[in-house]
Amino acid sequence: MSNLASNDTPIKVKTGSIRFDCPECTAEVDIKEAFTEEKLGDGIERVSLVCPNCGGVNVGYYSNKKIRRNIARLKEIRDRHDVNYLQEYRDLQEKHIKYFDKFQLKMKGGGKG
Ligand SMILES: [Zn+2]
Repeated sequence: MSNLASNDTPIKVKTGSIRFDCPECTAEVDIKEAFTEEKLGDGIERVSLVCPNCGGVNVGYYSNKKIRRNIARLKEIRDRHDVNYLQEYRDLQEKHIKYFDKFQLKMKGGGKG
């Protein structure tokens, strides 16, 4: 699953469903229909949900090359299923989450210098 429902987004993803309630107009929206990826340049991409009913944009997360590489690497390690994979997976995941959070703050908190 993707990381669309982070702590600060008002999106409530219903369990076992691929629909969510738009926080703007409260319409029930199919995530597949709303899922939008934009290239912002410099390898940065913004993944967001755009409500087809009201056009409201709910930013899910930003990614850059490093984040996408880490995600791909994590998947590789997980799929390996050898004896060492768990420790390696946890180490990388910890680094990845720290970097990911910092990057989200930087992108979302923009505006101030
Ligand atoms: Zn809406």
